[in-house]
Amino acid sequence: MSKVVCIMLAGGKGKRMGTKVSKQYLLLDEKPVLFYSLKAFEEHVDEIIVVAAKGEEEYCKENIVDKYGIEKVSAVVTGGAERYLSVYEGLKAIKKTGEETHVLIHDGARPFICGDVIKKTIEKVEETGACIVAVPSKDTVKIGNTDNIVESTPDRRNVWLVQTPQAFEYEAIFEAYKKAIASGREDITDDSMVMESFGDKEIHFVEGNYDNIKLTTPEDLIHGMAILRAKMDIGKNI
Ligand code: C5P
Repeated sequence: MSKVVCIMLAGGKGKRMGTKVSKQYLLLDEKPVLFYSLKAFEEHVDEIIVVAAKGEEEYCKENIVDKYGIEKVSAVVTGGAERYLSVYEGLKAIKKTGEETHVLIHDGARPFICGDVIKKTIEKVEETGACIVAVPSKDTVKIGNTDNIVESTPDRRNVWLVQTPQAFEYEAIFEAYKKAIASGREDITDDSMVMESFGDKEIHFVEGNYDNIKLTTPEDLIHGMAILRAKMDIGKNI
């Protein structure tokens, strides 16, 4: 058993959602999106570091962390201009204790992550040092070029759609991130890419659920409400 820290990303402005309020603070059944994400992790990890957008740190602390009593949150830190820069701020905020530490990096805008998948992810990262939650692609995927012309078709049996959490042994991902930042590379869209390009660990898939969607555009909120209602109904039947 190692120390398990969650970096909860809430540093995005959610421009594609088109709302005044950042998407992680929108309400779903009267509670903010970020509340559901934090609640899902709280019972499985030792500590949570929330990364908030610059200027939203106090709002996040008062209206989510304190209001809903999420006690495992040890810090709310300021994020960067891109997701990977926010992750780096979260990694820097983890205090070294000498204890083996694993970190689960999660998009705060994915409120439907379930406890079973979090548990499986922790088990896998403790065994392997690097893993990511993903689902097999139901659709055929095409690789296109910049002129919107099809270039190739990967074998669907090997295509996975990647979600979060993405989990790593702490020193390994922190070192890989330091190298990525120093390289000046700017096309980093997930943490696995950082380990693939700048780290040395093989990354394992953990099969997740199709409903662990990221709330990105307004249609996702309609879909999100349906997922939430279904989860509540399931809860009632247990
Ligand atoms: O923008 P995107 O939907 O890819 O964001 C994924 C997650 O990363 C969201 O939870 C968002 O709040 C977070 N993020 C961040 N800092 C940024 C951009 C996004 O923490 N600069």
